[in-house]
Amino acid sequence: MSDLTHLSISDLRTGLAGKKFSSRELTQTYLDKIDKTKELNAFILVDRDKALAAADQADKMRAAGSNLPLLGIPGAIKDMILTKDVRTTAASKILQNFVPPYSATVVNRLEAAGSIVLGKTNLDEFAMGSSNENSAFGAVKNPWDIERVPGGSSGGSAAAIAACLAPYALGTDTGGSIRQPASFCNIVGIKPTYGRVSRYGVVAYASSLDQVGPMARTVQDCAEICQVLSGHDEFDSTSVDKPVPQYVAGLKKGVKGLRLGIPKEYFIKGLDPEVEKAVRGAIKQLESLGATTVEISLPHTELAVAVYYILAPAEASSNLARYDGVRYGYRAQGSKDLMDLYCRSRSEGFGQEVQRRIMIGTYVLSSGYFDAFYLKAQKVRTLIAQDFQKAFAEKCDVIVSPTAPTTAFRIAEKVTDPLAMYLNDIFTIPVNLAGLPGMSLPCGFDSKGLPIGLQLIGKPWDEETLFNAGFAYESGTEWHKRLPEMAKV
Ligand code: GLN
Repeated sequence: MSDLTHLSISDLRTGLAGKKFSSRELTQTYLDKIDKTKELNAFILVDRDKALAAADQADKMRAAGSNLPLLGIPGAIKDMILTKDVRTTAASKILQNFVPPYSATVVNRLEAAGSIVLGKTNLDEFAMGSSNENSAFGAVKNPWDIERVPGGSSGGSAAAIAACLAPYALGTDTGGSIRQPASFCNIVGIKPTYGRVSRYGVVAYASSLDQVGPMARTVQDCAEICQVLSGHDEFDSTSVDKPVPQYVAGLKKGVKGLRLGIPKEYFIKGLDPEVEKAVRGAIKQLESLGATTVEISLPHTELAVAVYYILAPAEASSNLARYDGVRYGYRAQGSKDLMDLYCRSRSEGFGQEVQRRIMIGTYVLSSGYFDAFYLKAQKVRTLIAQDFQKAFAEKCDVIVSPTAPTTAFRIAEKVTDPLAMYLNDIFTIPVNLAGLPGMSLPCGFDSKGLPIGLQLIGKPWDEETLFNAGFAYESGTEWHKRLPEMAKV
């Protein structure tokens, strides 16, 4: 039975439709496996009874003739995304008892397509981090080596997919949080174009950057889930009313004639030579499939990390102002007045990294510093976006790069050095600053046996080409088929 957990979404669909197994059996199999791999700490909450009840319901619907696209297929949800009547914490003590009265649009869409929520995955508190060590519920372990981080902030989702604890999971990506953990865990993850997927009911971190997307073991599985997630939502004014292409139907287009831009600023000192070798190998493979390559320049790349670590904390400092211990969330006991209640609830409820960002954010927005930091960062953000516009207008259809400069690092290795941690986001952050779609997919392993990710960056709204190129590459390689021992329990 445990092999069921290795199947792709389309194989699960076929198996369920052909009555090879029921949704109850499938869901039970995942739940048992989640129990056996508790040391990963991938989940903050698993609601067995609820998941099994939903599975029974799906089996009944199927018997009555329903064939919804994800009917009876389980998935996992990053605990940054609201689930009605199911505790949602953002991995923060400040929300440790928060039970939302409504679900995010993305969760409603998955459930309307027949999917079943297995549980809520662990993350860095409020999605601030690159290692999943900043969680009030403890660090997540990488299934490829449990002494290493799974990446962050969607580390629980990535670990769960790599260990086959669910066929797909949702992540959120503000500066790389879907793609970097995907690369550390040998899975596929896509951050869609800003505005493609609704954020209604998603805990806000940095609202001009946040986007929701799928994580799964194959490109096609991500395309299937992205199809369900995408499209306008009247509850999110930043979601855009544009037609959504049929991602899966177009997957076999191939890459003949596709122009790949290779940004010279992404192959620099500090890039692990083993990562570079794997990425260059992947580019060769794409060429052998008919793509052409051209060197491009994205000259403002080196400013992206600095810009991001001004803008994201600035937006976070205002988004997180709502957690004051009054209407919901953690409240400190025995305060002497209102100001004392705010101060103590927030100092006790937020973790160290979140407090650091709130302080940086408040500082860069304060009068006297606003022009020097925030305003300047906004201007540089425009230059970064223009670099991409120019490359796409003049030279290429897709940009290819490493997802992260290294493979998974050791737990505790960077936690005391925020700058070293922030630099790990160097190749993913520019994509969020420019609002573009970006995908990470498996492209090799280093000599320690750790996965390496390839990043594909697309034009705005062109997720389709990322799926096509990713699918073409994946079809000619075996990397995505390798599973960690932990997935075989
Ligand atoms: N690592 C980045 C940060 O700490 C990105 C996180 C994210 O994408 N949510 O902010």
